[in-house]
Amino acid sequence: MDEAPLVHLEDVVRRFGGIRAVDGVSFQLGPGDVLGFLGPNGAGKTTTMKIITGNLAPTSGRVEVRGIDMVGDPVRAKGSVGYLPEHPPLHQELTVDEFLRYCARLNGVRRRELEESVATAKRRCGIAGMGGRLIGNLSRGYQQRVGIAQAIVHRPEVVILDEPTIGLDPIQVREIRELIRELGSEHGVILSTHILPEVQAVCNRVQIIHEGRLVFAESLEGLGDRLAATSLRVDLERPPDAASLEAIEGVSSVEMLEAGSFRIHHGSGESPAEALARRALDNGWGLRALVPEEPSLEQMFIDVTLKEGPETGEEAA
Ligand code: ATP
Repeated sequence: MDEAPLVHLEDVVRRFGGIRAVDGVSFQLGPGDVLGFLGPNGAGKTTTMKIITGNLAPTSGRVEVRGIDMVGDPVRAKGSVGYLPEHPPLHQELTVDEFLRYCARLNGVRRRELEESVATAKRRCGIAGMGGRLIGNLSRGYQQRVGIAQAIVHRPEVVILDEPTIGLDPIQVREIRELIRELGSEHGVILSTHILPEVQAVCNRVQIIHEGRLVFAESLEGLGDRLAATSLRVDLERPPDAASLEAIEGVSSVEMLEAGSFRIHHGSGESPAEALARRALDNGWGLRALVPEEPSLEQMFIDVTLKEGPETGEEAA
């Protein structure tokens, strides 16, 4: 029985000259995990993905796929990984079948299993009827499906997707996200993105990388807690002084934004919205708007980096 995690990274560092693009990253991926790897531009996502897929060597640290050392035995380790790079090298002049057969052979699929592997990958990616089409003639969304099909054609245990929905229209985005969710039933998936709703839509775990370091590693519920609103935006036609607002139960501080507009800060899960609305009505403050404010992803990056410092996610799978 195979008890090693699908992916295991231990204190991985990658330098480019003076830059530490990845700076001591450790985590594990288990079966059934769809792990969102979230971070702003230049945070180190692509570099980490390339290290896990064996396309880039770490400067130091350990990378294992199913217990196999990626540096020591790259051929065996790579056989368990499928990769959709940010810019997949799709051969525009090939048909879908030609391209997928070529990728399958490159990834060591035996000749007698070739047709079945290609057919299965196409079916799972919703392109079963498109084998004879030239890749260059497909829409961007269908090209991305071909990109995902090439990542799973050799039936890897681990699938790595780098910014898989970038450049797609909203309908294509929805379809590709559905496909990624479906992949999670058979593979461990790592999804790199800088789009928070993408992680919320498809992942069960999330990690945030910032300047090469993991600053947050949690379940999706943990992310929800972190994103819970801790402020309200209030617009009043006849506002009282700030002290009257501060006196309302549950309000921790009041920020004046512009005439009649306030940001009311409160503890997580202790919204004073109802008390505030009642007070506004009772006192004729002319309540125009009362809106919970969720912290933006950028705010969260700043928050977790400044307040907590680096944290490595050595979560068990
Ligand atoms: P993006 O979302 O923009 O793709 P990312 O999170 O994937 O960003 P990386 O591409 O991993 O970030 O880059 C991390 C850092 O390493 C950046 O500062 C980048 O400029 C640097 N970097 C990446 N590859 C190289 C390279 N081959 N040579 C020099 N510096 C590099």
